[in-house]
Amino acid sequence: MNHSKSRELFRRAQEIIPGGVNSPVRAFKSVGGQPVFVARGEGSHIFDVDGNEYIDYVGSWGPLLLGHRHPEILAALAGALEIGTSFGAPTAQEIELAEAIIRAVPSIEMVRLVNSGTEATMSAIRVARGFTGRDLVVKFEGCYHGHVDSLLVKAGSGVATLGIADTQGVPKAFCDTTLALPYNSVEAVEHAFRAHGDRIAAIIVEPVVGNMGCVPPLPGYLEALRQITGRFGALLIFDEVMTGFRVAYGGAQQRYGIRPDLTTLGKVIGGGLPVGAYGGRKDIMCKVAPVGPVYQAGTLSGNPLAVAAGLAMLRHLEAHPEVYAQLEERAARLCAGAPAGVTVNRVGAMFTFFFTEGPVTDWESARRCDTARFGKFFRGMLEQGIYLAPSQFEAAFLSAAHTDEDIARTIAAAGKA
Ligand SMILES: *Cc1c(COP(=O)(O)O)cnc(C)c1O
Repeated sequence: MNHSKSRELFRRAQEIIPGGVNSPVRAFKSVGGQPVFVARGEGSHIFDVDGNEYIDYVGSWGPLLLGHRHPEILAALAGALEIGTSFGAPTAQEIELAEAIIRAVPSIEMVRLVNSGTEATMSAIRVARGFTGRDLVVKFEGCYHGHVDSLLVKAGSGVATLGIADTQGVPKAFCDTTLALPYNSVEAVEHAFRAHGDRIAAIIVEPVVGNMGCVPPLPGYLEALRQITGRFGALLIFDEVMTGFRVAYGGAQQRYGIRPDLTTLGKVIGGGLPVGAYGGRKDIMCKVAPVGPVYQAGTLSGNPLAVAAGLAMLRHLEAHPEVYAQLEERAARLCAGAPAGVTVNRVGAMFTFFFTEGPVTDWESARRCDTARFGKFFRGMLEQGIYLAPSQFEAAFLSAAHTDEDIARTIAAAGKA
């Protein structure tokens, strides 16, 4: 496969953009350090600047549940362009997107739109602190909640991939407000609440982790988080930026039947444009300005283009609930074709092949993976036209645009790689 144009672009980019990329994991640092520059996408496929074609399992890191350039999303965007790109004033479509989110996600009674997942988690934490009058936040090792200062402690995703244990630039005082515990351990949570229960504002958790690779909750784990937070008057925040509208229409909370106090969303709800959201119990959300004293704002929040794309995505999913059964079946078939010697974790249309004996249930077990072997596998797949996330500690995403033929080709390539 020829990558000469990607190589030249990467050289140029590195001169003027840190690492040549606008988000660290895009640099392919743990898998050889030469990213492919994308020229365009169509359905389940992307094409790079050298004319190579790939089956895409990154899907922009989760948002593209319907694949690239879905006609309904393109039509909605074209319609929005007729009106204008930003007003900084309320529009009717924002209400429709908020109503669609509330219809879908069981625990959300009131919601605020923002521009990214990071903004959503940052704001949800602020509201939780404002509502409870407490400062401490519990998070879990290997979970990633965006690049919010206090949530970068023992974070997953690129932080884990690059082995940055504690990022510089975050004041120690911020880190001191975070308690990072092992995922899937009820005992660790019980212990933390016994010690600090009256000071903990919230637990924030990926109900299915995607950011150390896909790690599902063990049976009873989410129930225990619900129970313990309730007992101590702390809030339970489900960070469903990745799982929302992906593992089920109503997210992980619908799939597992748990009702968090606050939920953060992003990725799929933007239909490929920058949107985030946070919402939950009405009494909590009424703390947000201008109703309440917790300030949070955004010049481009509720942007007409982003809202149009998100609304088209949610409307399509609402009208086609069969998408989820189809994703489940195809993802299961793909994972059944995994090569021997890997541990496969999957929930709905997100999954990871871990290069370890397994089981993988937390960051300790995920980090035991043979990342060098993963790197070989990744490059073997790329050379055969299969585009995976360039890190062992990320999830792969199936879209409704992936065909039976895509899956058969991927399984065959995985065997060779
Ligand atoms: C991607 C992600 C975020 C951050 O969202 P951005 O839009 O990248 O800021 C937060 N939480 C989870 C669970 C995510 O997967």
